[in-house]
Amino acid sequence: MYDIIIIGAGPAGMTAAIYARRASKSVLVLEAKGYGGQIINTPDIENYPVEAHISGFDFATKVYEQAKALGAEFVFEKAVDIKAEGDERIVTTTKGSYSAKAVIIATGSENRKLGVDNEDELVGRGVSYCATCDGNFFRKKKVAVVGGGNTALEDALYLADLADTVYLIHRRDEFRGDDATVSQLKQRENVKFVYNSTVTKLNAEKRLKSIEVTDKNTGETTTIEVNGLFVAVGRIPENQNFASVVELDRSGYAVSGENCRTKTAGVFVAGDNRIKDVRQLVTATADGAVSATEAIKYIGTLS
Ligand code: NAP
Repeated sequence: MYDIIIIGAGPAGMTAAIYARRASKSVLVLEAKGYGGQIINTPDIENYPVEAHISGFDFATKVYEQAKALGAEFVFEKAVDIKAEGDERIVTTTKGSYSAKAVIIATGSENRKLGVDNEDELVGRGVSYCATCDGNFFRKKKVAVVGGGNTALEDALYLADLADTVYLIHRRDEFRGDDATVSQLKQRENVKFVYNSTVTKLNAEKRLKSIEVTDKNTGETTTIEVNGLFVAVGRIPENQNFASVVELDRSGYAVSGENCRTKTAGVFVAGDNRIKDVRQLVTATADGAVSATEAIKYIGTLS
């Protein structure tokens, strides 16, 4: 039995692993995909202390190497269930099951889709959810970014350096993301702002050819020719498999206080998948520290 199983190898989970290992707890990190989580798609992190600029990939790799060097074990399997049996917390994955005294759920969130016809079929043929992964395919081409949060703004800025034209399509006329990034975008001649509009249709012949955009105020539709559409309309917390041990709010976020505790003793949540006001890299890593510290305290109460 491990002391602590951490589900999710994003910044929150890997920071929890670092704290738990430094307290000499045995740690298993379970991860469904690759290490890094959402931050791996961020081209340039400018708001994390110490490094003025670092790519999400480099950041995640450094944290992963730090956790590994401290002795955290990583297994790349998707966790699908948690059961609490006495003082044992049993995590089932798609391949087996593992038990621990405490579990930290740091699963983050997945991409929200636009919900228009053909969206899934056109992934890899013009539709993308990751500008840093796929932007290079659209050098000197026309692309659109949908969304008004920091992800959409940063994606648009990244693509503005590569693409011929970037249409930034937002359903309101005010952005949710940082003003500083909006100001940077306004200085780019190849960025065109399309406000109060939603993407209502994808037109394709094998690959995406154009998108239909509908103005929410006038109902007018416009066709914009683009080779690529980058969808950045937010994320959905990945807690569905753990609803039996963790209370979820209406949007699916795990209910917990700042101490990362949940309704089940010995089960903690950390990072973007829990209710919180500020979802940033720095708050995710902070949650990692808090959840591990709380888990260690909890283990200390077991006989
Ligand atoms: P977000 O902040 O939730 O923004 C999602 C955006 O998509 C909103 O502008 C929303 O519009 C729009 N939207 C939602 N559903 C839509 C739909 N069906 N059709 C069209 N538009 C839709 O998501 P995010 O940008 O992915 O950011 C997630 C969190 O990560 C945020 O807290 C963000 O600050 C953080 N983040 C931080 C950094 C950084 O620190 N460098 C980088 C990236 C992300 P409304 O505004 O009208 O609701």
